Amino acid sequence: MIRFIAKIWAKLSYLWQLEFESAKSDVNANLAKRNTNEKRKLVDRLNKEAEDIEKRIAEMKLLEEQGYWLCDNGHEKGDAFAPIVGGETRTCLECNAPAKLVKRSEMTPQEQYESDRERHEAEKVAESKRQQAKAEQEHVSGGEQTEKHLRGLADNGRSVADKIRAL
Ligand SMILES: [Zn+2]
Repeated sequence: MIRFIAKIWAKLSYLWQLEFESAKSDVNANLAKRNTNEKRKLVDRLNKEAEDIEKRIAEMKLLEEQGYWLCDNGHEKGDAFAPIVGGETRTCLECNAPAKLVKRSEMTPQEQYESDRERHEAEKVAESKRQQAKAEQEHVSGGEQTEKHLRGLADNGRSVADKIRAL
């Protein structure tokens, strides 16, 4: 009688253990999944920010070659482009502040240097965002592996439990 109860008890407690560990693995897998999703969003955001900066750099480079009007309040007027020879002033169509022509070929060496420096700094920011995104992407891949591993453990535990139940 005792032996019979002990057998049932051993089987039940083993099943309990397997099911418990499987459930725990599932919880941890869900946690890993949530973290991975957050990291993935971060990667997307960083890449988007880098892309916006790179676009802006290219846009500014082109504008500088063509020449554009910039007012004291920072408005850029695309419709007030050259062909007007530099030195002339205009007023901003938006805020009436005085605007000056910004054009690469008419810049002093100092102005060119400043412009290049600003561009290099922006490039560095974009590059650092790309690097950060790349590093975070590795966390995403690691998180996916972890989740897969935990799901495998949970499935395995349940399939062993099913076999024991069938005994
Ligand atoms: Zn303005």
